[in-house]
Amino acid sequence: MSKVLIIGAGGVGGVVAHKCAQVPEVFTEICLASRTKARCDRIAAQVPRPITTAQVDADNVDELAALIDCVEPELVINVALPYQDLSIMEACLKAGVHYLDTANYEPPDVAKFEYKWQWAYQERFQKAGLMAVLGCGFDPGVTNIFCAYAQQNMYDEIHSVDIVDCNAGDHGHPFATNFNPEINIREVTQRGKYWEEGEWKEIDPMSISEMIDFPEVGPRKGYLIYHEEEESLVRHIKGLKRIRFWMTFSDNYLTHLRVLQNVGMTRIDPVMYEGHEVVPLKFLKVLLPDPSSLGENYKGKTCIGCVFEGIKDGKPKKRMLYNVCDHAECYKEVKAQAVSYTTGVPAMIGGYLMLTNAWAGAGVFNVEQLDPMPFMDLLNKYGLPWKEIER
Ligand code: NDP
Repeated sequence: MSKVLIIGAGGVGGVVAHKCAQVPEVFTEICLASRTKARCDRIAAQVPRPITTAQVDADNVDELAALIDCVEPELVINVALPYQDLSIMEACLKAGVHYLDTANYEPPDVAKFEYKWQWAYQERFQKAGLMAVLGCGFDPGVTNIFCAYAQQNMYDEIHSVDIVDCNAGDHGHPFATNFNPEINIREVTQRGKYWEEGEWKEIDPMSISEMIDFPEVGPRKGYLIYHEEEESLVRHIKGLKRIRFWMTFSDNYLTHLRVLQNVGMTRIDPVMYEGHEVVPLKFLKVLLPDPSSLGENYKGKTCIGCVFEGIKDGKPKKRMLYNVCDHAECYKEVKAQAVSYTTGVPAMIGGYLMLTNAWAGAGVFNVEQLDPMPFMDLLNKYGLPWKEIER
């Protein structure tokens, strides 16, 4: 018997619920909880297996711990927002259950992506004999697993990693974000950063771009941005000299974003409006399409992967590991677009490996510290097949 509690009923939460339901031999019971219970119920009605639902404020540790005590899961999968990571980790410690998430903690008042707050839980999880797995979506998540796999099987030394993320899909809206708008806009408007020869190099937002040839999608302009997995990969991939992260954006997306920034709509500090404090970005989120609603008419594909350069048997080697995912296929299977799908499937796989003890240990882990082999097999089995090519 292994019961899972999923927290967060957005685009990603829906996919995690669907995918866990497809594996009843591992996830024998599923409970989906979120701030708005109606959203959990809507997902539960689509899943072809009975799952229970609950309302919870995941900012409130006592409320969460009481829910965990009542549901009695072995594992909590956190697919709410990064703001809730620490309270959910606290509640898992209090209730004595394992933890997994897909995005690192961010303080609500500063757009800052760092693992330090969650790494600080190492000793407490170790002492409690519990496992916390951080960043188990696609990027972070599968990209970290690709790095661990490349280190173990493809290279003697990896010198550089370029993580490349392309969404070549079209959702038909003038402007929408593929995951939570607030988190997405905070991520892409911060200063860029990459790591080279032992130090972080900061750049102005979107100031470096390059044409990248994406398999099955074609050439697209990628922009160098900072992404959280770089911080842990720099620690865990031996001999690394450089790591960068590239994401594609359409000219239309960038034009909308520039206008929103110029008029102050992406600000995260409160402003007074008719006697009330309003955070412009939070207000903007209410106006933009919900990421979980984009799936129905989404066409096209995503292509996300890692390009490695390094040495094997004394010779230079440049290879790419990647996955291509089709928005319409995802919608047909789980009523979600490919960005939610590529995040939710790895979260389910991480949970699968924890519940079957293929991934075990006490403490806080980034996924590249765990065995990549069973994860790579399950990606092929559960909807995210990967390929390796020469570059
Ligand atoms: P959504 O905004 O669609 O969903 C977030 C869900 O969390 C909503 O159901 C929301 O509730 C719920 N929630 C928010 N605050 C609370 C709270 N205090 N208590 C309980 N529930 C709460 O986001 P996505 O599904 O697109 O993204 C989910 C997570 O996945 C995010 O952390 C995102 O950063 C991460 N992600 C990771 C990726 C990766 O590859 N690693 C890629 C994409 C996303 P309500 O319905 O009431 O608003």
